[in-house]
Amino acid sequence: MKVIDFHIHAGTWDMNTPSCQESMLKINPDAEDLHLSIEDPEWLRDFLIGEGVTYAVILAEHAPATSAYCPSEWVADYCKDIEILIPFACLNPLMDPEPAHKLVFYVKELGMKGLKLLPSYCFYFPNDPIMYPVYKKAEELKIPVIFHTGSSDISGTKLKYADPLLLDDVATDFPELTIIMAHSGRGFWYDRAFFLSRHHKNVFMDITGLPPKNLLKYFPELERNSEKVIFGSDWPGVPKGIKSNIEAICDLPLKDSTVENILYKNSERILFG
Ligand SMILES: [Zn+2]
Repeated sequence: MKVIDFHIHAGTWDMNTPSCQESMLKINPDAEDLHLSIEDPEWLRDFLIGEGVTYAVILAEHAPATSAYCPSEWVADYCKDIEILIPFACLNPLMDPEPAHKLVFYVKELGMKGLKLLPSYCFYFPNDPIMYPVYKKAEELKIPVIFHTGSSDISGTKLKYADPLLLDDVATDFPELTIIMAHSGRGFWYDRAFFLSRHHKNVFMDITGLPPKNLLKYFPELERNSEKVIFGSDWPGVPKGIKSNIEAICDLPLKDSTVENILYKNSERILFG
């Protein structure tokens, strides 16, 4: 069985803010030592293969006010010789003076394959017109954009920027842009995320960080949306390993074809066409 994990954080321990370090240590007391291993991309590749992962999206993070500063350049370099690692850039429109230009550089010069945005960590609304040149460029470059939606354990993040409904504007105004809602509106917006991904052909929901055993409670009609749901783990910020998450999804009362779509095929279409 093939699996694409659409949500992995690499980076060094020092790239994380103290509050982010604190929340990681609560989940895993060995998190600091673990980061020494993570710094080596070959170690991460072998670890992921051992967990049953075929490809993994590695996310940059430009949110120094809240969680971390893991530069896009660092992620591009980290992934460059490892075929199974797929680098995604991150932009912070309040810190990057010309974010659309930066995006072109990351994609054309550094070979990055997508973009991650964290509005609730960086304090802007995703439908703010300042972001529109970035979306236009991403649409032209044919790269997917992941938005953090819903709650977060990191202190200082602001939930009002993480409402999936704000992406309705973006999905409507950029109909060719592939939009992925990380965490599917975690907290109290599961219904919105589900509806939006049914409503817009270009919007996907990812189940990163949601306990598999609760998936059918949050999304009772998950099966009806089998072509729009994608898997991510949020490793290393998760209590159990990736493999146990994958197994728990396989154990849900879903059709085999739905499980295959969630774990691999939907992401494959987005990443490889
Ligand atoms: Zn994450």
